Amino acid sequence: TRSKSQPPSANLNPTASTLPNPPADHRELGIAQQLFTTSPYSPGSPLFQPNGAYVFNKLASFLRAQYPTYGFREVITPNIYKKSLWETSGHWENYADDMFSVTGRGASGQKEGAEIGEDEEFGLKPMNCPGHCLLFASEKRSYRDLPIRFADFSALHRNEVSGSLSGLTRVRRFHQDDGHIFCRPSQILQEISSTLQFVGMVYDTFSLGPYKLVLSTRPKDHYIGTPEEWDRAEGQLKQALEEQALAGRQWSINEGDGAFYGPKIDIILKDSDGKEHQTATIQLDFQLPQRFNLEYQAPAPEYERRGEITTDKALLDTSGPVTPVIVHRAILGSLERFMALLVEHYAGRWPCWLSPRPAIILTVNDDPAVTAYAEAVRTELSGRAQTPQLSRRNKALPQQPGFTELPVDIDTSARSLGRKVREAKEKRYNHIVVVGAKDVEADTVQVELQAQPDREVALSILKQVIGVTKDQLPTEGKPLKLELKRTQASQYLQELIKNFA
Ligand SMILES: [Zn+2]
Repeated sequence: TRSKSQPPSANLNPTASTLPNPPADHRELGIAQQLFTTSPYSPGSPLFQPNGAYVFNKLASFLRAQYPTYGFREVITPNIYKKSLWETSGHWENYADDMFSVTGRGASGQKEGAEIGEDEEFGLKPMNCPGHCLLFASEKRSYRDLPIRFADFSALHRNEVSGSLSGLTRVRRFHQDDGHIFCRPSQILQEISSTLQFVGMVYDTFSLGPYKLVLSTRPKDHYIGTPEEWDRAEGQLKQALEEQALAGRQWSINEGDGAFYGPKIDIILKDSDGKEHQTATIQLDFQLPQRFNLEYQAPAPEYERRGEITTDKALLDTSGPVTPVIVHRAILGSLERFMALLVEHYAGRWPCWLSPRPAIILTVNDDPAVTAYAEAVRTELSGRAQTPQLSRRNKALPQQPGFTELPVDIDTSARSLGRKVREAKEKRYNHIVVVGAKDVEADTVQVELQAQPDREVALSILKQVIGVTKDQLPTEGKPLKLELKRTQASQYLQELIKNFA
């Protein structure tokens, strides 16, 4: 059962990060790979450098690409809300110590319109749920509209004590791949089941795992709703977990460890050192929808509330309001924290699709013909137009949205090739591409596969897509080094980033 010593804030913190940090050197690798930095001007709020922002955005766009399949639609919500909203949600009462407050104009005596008085006190959001409740309540909802699934990548702030701040894991500002599902009581099973599949697919993609699923059930004495409501919900969660067991995933029960407002499922990931990290959470919530007076119209509301169906015509003829259930869910959890885990997991050897350093082009010397050719190779490999494309009437044309260039680097300095190669290896570029005078002539590049985690994928693309023959390839165990036509190299990279390995 829930211990009395647990801070009340934990009750309102469905995705609390209470587990230990990943091994400390995500910070060292983060610096080596120029992912992020921190500043005493904003303790606990990482500043992402271009490389870190690239990985961060890749993670977000990866999830965005999955959202349509799982029925999520992205929303954009405010960072600050008035105190009165936090009173409605219960945060002001239970979570205020962990929130940053923000003062509006009225409180300093400058009155503006009707927004005056003590309600000029704002709180910086520690979570997205209240905003999503406002969105749900902004329209009249019918049972036919449910489930409604909102996703949100907003920045969140939690006023953690400064002593504990570090790297990407102990932060005051972070982003979740947050989502809220508003559903009918009868839809819990389907939603949990689909969320668990989503989780499985994502963790398999990053080759993370194995992970454990832990169900926390009704606390002994302090909870809202009826025992029957809890039993029905927990029954659906167990059924969804049983399906996962069929797929070979372990699950267990933490009896009585649920929050007072609903049962939850935690995803506990074991890292390569055997350490456990809580990442994803799926939390049911019977309370928040009540606090916000959320409702939808349904026939036979008495049955609807219990998640049951009736065929009684007279009952079906009467519609009435029913309170939806909210499912809070995050797949990666905190993007910052997940990035730290990945840095550890890949030890700086990112798969090409996610890598902030997929390739670097090194020139054999700084001869102008060679450096000019190297620049052209970079443009081609990055998939980018170096200057804006122009229309026939000399107007700049836009790129397609969704286009991201591959961040291919270049080193045209006069330093020795040996030194340049050594440095590139230290920086863990996936590929080192060398060009010299002979390549300028033959329109070729010398590609060496470096830090790509899965050599087999690279090999099969070279053979099947590029048509590289056996005798062009080095024998097994040797470094994968080969001469490619410039266009082949570009084709190879574009194919490789379609793979997650
Ligand atoms: Zn939430």
